[in-house]
Amino acid sequence: MAGMMYASTRGDRTEVSLGDAIARGLAPDGGLYVPRQLPGIDANALVAGQGLPALARVALRGFFAGDRLEGRLGEIADAALNVPAPTTAIDASPDPLYALELYHGPTAAFKDFGARFLAESLERMRSPQDERLTILVATSGDTGGAVAAAFHRRPWVRVVILYPKGLVSPRQEQQLTCWGDNVESLRVAGTFDDCQRLVKEAFVDEALRRRHRFSSANSINIGRLLPQMVYYVASSLEVRRATGRSANYVIPAGNLGNAFAAVWARELGLPIDRILLAHNANRTVPDYLTTGEWRPRASIATLASAMDVGNPSNMERLRALFPDWATLRSRIAADSIDDAAIRDRIIADHRRFGRVWCPHTAAAAEAYARLPAADRTGHPWVLVATAHPAKFNEIVEPLVGAPIEVPQSLARLLRLPRRVTDIAPTLGALADAIA
Ligand SMILES: *Cc1c(COP(=O)(O)O)cnc(C)c1O
Repeated sequence: MAGMMYASTRGDRTEVSLGDAIARGLAPDGGLYVPRQLPGIDANALVAGQGLPALARVALRGFFAGDRLEGRLGEIADAALNVPAPTTAIDASPDPLYALELYHGPTAAFKDFGARFLAESLERMRSPQDERLTILVATSGDTGGAVAAAFHRRPWVRVVILYPKGLVSPRQEQQLTCWGDNVESLRVAGTFDDCQRLVKEAFVDEALRRRHRFSSANSINIGRLLPQMVYYVASSLEVRRATGRSANYVIPAGNLGNAFAAVWARELGLPIDRILLAHNANRTVPDYLTTGEWRPRASIATLASAMDVGNPSNMERLRALFPDWATLRSRIAADSIDDAAIRDRIIADHRRFGRVWCPHTAAAAEAYARLPAADRTGHPWVLVATAHPAKFNEIVEPLVGAPIEVPQSLARLLRLPRRVTDIAPTLGALADAIA
C-alpha cells in the first residue's frame, strides 16, 4: 500500500512523509501540514473501553502508513498515551451530560497528550550523530509546562520556554520554571505576542541558526494533533455504549488544535454529531461563522488565558477541510463567553452538580447552558475539560468558597525551586540568553 503523504494548506504541492511533517512543524510556504486525503479506519476494530494506546493503534494507523515511524506507532502510543482521559457522567436523562477529563497528565492540562506524543515521535527519529536540538516554545501558560514535562531529561534536546511576565497564573509560572536540567525558562517583559514574535525571528536569523539547531513544538505541529484525536475516539465510543447515541462536544477553543482533532475524528467516522466551540471574549471565530468575514485581531486578556488567541492558527486546517463558508458553518458552531459569564458558570455548576471547572472548561459549560432546550434534551453532550481547576486556584477558589485539592503530579511540581531568567522582548536579549 502507498504511504500516506502530507502537504501544506497553502499553495505548495510538495509532499512529505509524516515523519518529515512532524520534524519540520511548519511547511516551507508557512502553511500547516495535512494528509493528502483522510485515511480510512477499521471501525470494527474500535471497541469502547479499550485504553488510549490500543485505540491509537487502530485510529492512527492510516496516518502512519508507509512512514519510518509506522512500526513504532504502538510503542509511541504506549509511552505517550498512558494517561487517563475518562468520560464521566455529570447529569442524566433528560439532558445527559458528561465531562471528558483531559487534566490527569503531568501538568494537569490536555496539552500533555500532544507534547508527550511529539517527544516520543521525535526521539524515535533521531540518529546518534544528529546535533542537539533546541526547542523554542512561546507559551501563554499551559503549552510551555507540557512541553517541558514531555522533554525533560531527554539529553538530545534543550528546551527554551518564553513566557510573558505577569500574564500567566502563579501555578502556571511554577510549572514553567521548576524543571532545570535541559529546560530553561525566559520571562519576557512583554506579551505572548512578543514571545511568539521572538521565536519566529530566531527561526529565520542566519547567525542564530548557524549556532543552534532549532525546532518547534507548538500546536500547529501535526505530531500534537494526531494524539488528540484518540481521546475523542475513546470518549465517543464510550458515550455511544452508554446512551446508544452519537456524542456532541463543547470544546474550549483558542488556537483550535483540540477542536480540530474532534473534527477529524468525526470525519473518520466516529460517532460524533455536533461540535460547538466555546471561545472567550476573543471572538474571531464566532464572528467569522456569523458574518463570513475572516478578521483576525490582537488578542485580549481574559480569565481563560490559554484561549487568548486573536488569530487561531488551526483555522487554516479547518478551511482546507471545508473550503466553503456555508459548509464550515454547517459542520461547527461557536459561541463567545465573557469573563463575567465564566465566573457565574463556575459558581452555578459547583452548586448544581458539585463540579469545579477551570475558567476554560467553564466557558464550555456556559456555551452548553445557552443551547436551546430542544438541542439538549435526549442528546448526550460532553464538556471537554481542558485543565484542572487547581491550576487556576486564585480565580476559582474565591468563587466556590473552598480550597481545591491539588492533584499529586501538580503538587510535586509546586514544591520544586524556580529558576528563571528575565529578558527584554528583543532578539538580541534572546540570543544572549541562549548563547
Ligand atoms: C490550550 C488550551 C485551550 C485551547 O486549546 P486550543 O487547542 O489552542 O484551541 C483550552 N483550554 C486550556 C486549559 C488550554 O491549555
